[in-house]
Amino acid sequence: MDSLTCRHLLDSLSDYIDGTLDETLCREIEAHMADCENCRIVVNTLEKTILLYRDLPASDLPDDVRQRLYTSLNLDDFLDSKKNKH
Ligand SMILES: [Zn+2]
Repeated sequence: MDSLTCRHLLDSLSDYIDGTLDETLCREIEAHMADCENCRIVVNTLEKTILLYRDLPASDLPDDVRQRLYTSLNLDDFLDSKKNKH
């Protein structure tokens, strides 16, 4: 079984932030974040962005908005650039 990678974390991130993710996976994500500064930054940024949306009257974050968030945060580029440094 592979250990949790940054990619896995990002796949589960929206559910994690929504609070709908399986508790075991939440713990894995938190454990990963403890060791991975990249993912801490990504999660913090995403949480802050989503909290801004939650202050709006329409509190549900539609999938297309969430998708735009991911795109605007350039998560793929972010992870790829970090990977290339190793
Ligand atoms: Zn990571």
